[in-house]
Amino acid sequence: MAITTLDHPLAADLLTILRNKDTEPPEFRQIAERLGYLLVAEALSDMPTTEVGIETPLETTTGTQLRRPVVAVAVLRAGLGLLHSVLTLVPDAAIGFAGVQRNEETAEPMEYYTRFPALGSARVLILEPMLATGGSLSWAIDKAKENGARDIVAVCVVAAPEGVAAIATAHPDVRVVAAALDRELSPSFYIAPGLGDMGDRLFGTL
Ligand code: URA
Repeated sequence: MAITTLDHPLAADLLTILRNKDTEPPEFRQIAERLGYLLVAEALSDMPTTEVGIETPLETTTGTQLRRPVVAVAVLRAGLGLLHSVLTLVPDAAIGFAGVQRNEETAEPMEYYTRFPALGSARVLILEPMLATGGSLSWAIDKAKENGARDIVAVCVVAAPEGVAAIATAHPDVRVVAAALDRELSPSFYIAPGLGDMGDRLFGTL
């Protein structure tokens, strides 16, 4: 498994705003969406393409199109914060949902809702903004694979080394794209320095 972190001043600028505890939900949502464009572009950077002939206003030339469909699976709730970025860049992407809740004491994933479109021939982007222990992401990848996914990229805002190691062990075939690899998991399973609870910050819950 490989992790790609975005080495881009714009990504760093946007992530700085997300990390700031004073960024309120309306701005937080907008900035997450803008960072999402950069993350999704990177997650699709190795997509196979097909050559197509087209007419420009001046002459006949060749262009390329994505050869395979794109599916995004939003891990609820925080994954919803990156969904518009996918749908803006790839409007015909099909969308799945993986509802998993973290047990606050054990950090183990607990399933409450799962719904997938056809995954077999697609590049499947699993939207899991905070890769902490890796439990929820690993669970979502297992579910996607059970439903036929063969080409999976995890799209994260921030990853902890512990979560990256867990995914590398359980799913060495899955690439992780993240804006940053942070220092560590805190004793209460938050990513440090991190940005707090992504779902709460997106949706203003306490
Ligand atoms: N989930 C979050 O939203 N934040 C963390 O730091 C860890 C898991």
